Amino acid sequence: MAAVGTVQVQCPDCGLDVPITLEPKSTTGYGDKLMIVMEPDYTDLWAHSWTHEP
Ligand SMILES: [Zn+2]
Repeated sequence: MAAVGTVQVQCPDCGLDVPITLEPKSTTGYGDKLMIVMEPDYTDLWAHSWTHEP
């Protein structure tokens, strides 16, 4: 799986910046422009938050 982009979101629990990936969900054409809708994948953030569990 190739990550096309990453963003960092701040963990609400500990304030750590957690990198998550952006995945292209759909492409939509408007005239001669091509729009790619990027959707963040929060799996990594969830995985991180689970590390806070006792
Ligand atoms: Zn955290």
